[in-house]
Amino acid sequence: MFRKTRLFTPGPTPLLPAAQFAMAAADMHHRTPEFRALFQRVLGQLKIFVGTRSDVLLLACSGTGAMEASVSNLTSPGDRVLVLTAGKFGERWVDLTKAFGCQVDVVKAPYGETFDLGAVRAALKPETRAVYVQATETSTAVRHDVEAIAKLLKQAAPETLLVVDGITGLGTTHFDVDAWGIDVLIGGSQKAVMIPPGLAYLSVSDRAWAAMETAQNPRYYFDLRKERKNAAKGESAYTPSVALIAGLGAALDYIAGQAGGDLEKGRMVLVDNAQTNAAATRAGLVALGFTLFAPTAPAAAATAVAVPEGMSSDDVVKTLKTRFATVIANGQGEMKGKIFRIAHLGFFDYLDTIALIGAMEHIARDTLKLPVDYGQGVAAAQKVYAEAVTQS
Ligand SMILES: *Cc1c(COP(=O)(O)O)cnc(C)c1O
Repeated sequence: MFRKTRLFTPGPTPLLPAAQFAMAAADMHHRTPEFRALFQRVLGQLKIFVGTRSDVLLLACSGTGAMEASVSNLTSPGDRVLVLTAGKFGERWVDLTKAFGCQVDVVKAPYGETFDLGAVRAALKPETRAVYVQATETSTAVRHDVEAIAKLLKQAAPETLLVVDGITGLGTTHFDVDAWGIDVLIGGSQKAVMIPPGLAYLSVSDRAWAAMETAQNPRYYFDLRKERKNAAKGESAYTPSVALIAGLGAALDYIAGQAGGDLEKGRMVLVDNAQTNAAATRAGLVALGFTLFAPTAPAAAATAVAVPEGMSSDDVVKTLKTRFATVIANGQGEMKGKIFRIAHLGFFDYLDTIALIGAMEHIARDTLKLPVDYGQGVAAAQKVYAEAVTQS
């Protein structure tokens, strides 16, 4: 049989062909009117994609670079910050804020769960300068309730900044950035926007700009004020990732094209698509006898699935690759071997979901020896899809 390579990983995600063509054609110099026009157009599109009236900046780095920028630009050594962590990416916030000399309070939830809001409220102090959290914790496929956390901050700590790693949340979660009061929302190129790794983007609120005036931590490459000044002229402070920016523009055009050219509506379609594919995947795999790793707060970015006792997720990951040339993600860190993760963010559609669940039926039968009938998982997924399309 032919084996067609397919990516189902939560970053990098499958590439959009139109974006690949745009990248290949982007041989322009970055200090030219051509580039300025492209850059300004893409920055404008990004504001709509993120859904904010604030500035959105683009940085040439992976997502972690923008996470670092949101620590170095907003804090001073000795500042008290609160990190909400429930997985590997939350732990990255702990490491980053410590690296910049912050006094770090931590609210933890076990892997596979989200936080108790009461614990968050109890951990807030009047001097807490910023709260750092993920919208979706990709390592466990959990969605955190950013709206509830934002609401809590407005009541209990109105001066505290809210910084959200939306690197897999953007394009899979509906946000109302300005109304909720998210001060920084971070995205990355290799996730829902369907282009290769190497670009990060972030929205920055007026409050966050004001906080930068007093923040003392060192920054040079990731100096957001410098980027903002240059962006106003249609340029970036240093050599931008020209090809990726052209690809991003094409991807945002494609997303707009899903709703007749309206990018805001296209963003909703992208999010709803991820949510429906995630729900269908959960239903399909549960019907095959798998256990969801994050049943109470599942993300639409990815689905994490626990393998039955005595089995290893390594076998699922390896067999999907050898039999079907399909790549899914294993667990990270201590979750390796225990869970596998299937992505829904970006360029996936319902037919991709059905194909993957079909392949999982073979693996459940042949590799894991589960008592599964062909069609059992697919039928459950089809029902979710059918219900979703009659509702919309
Ligand atoms: C992918 C990802 C990141 C960024 O990782 P990079 O490798 O630096 O791009 C950060 N947070 C979350 C939740 C992610 O999924």
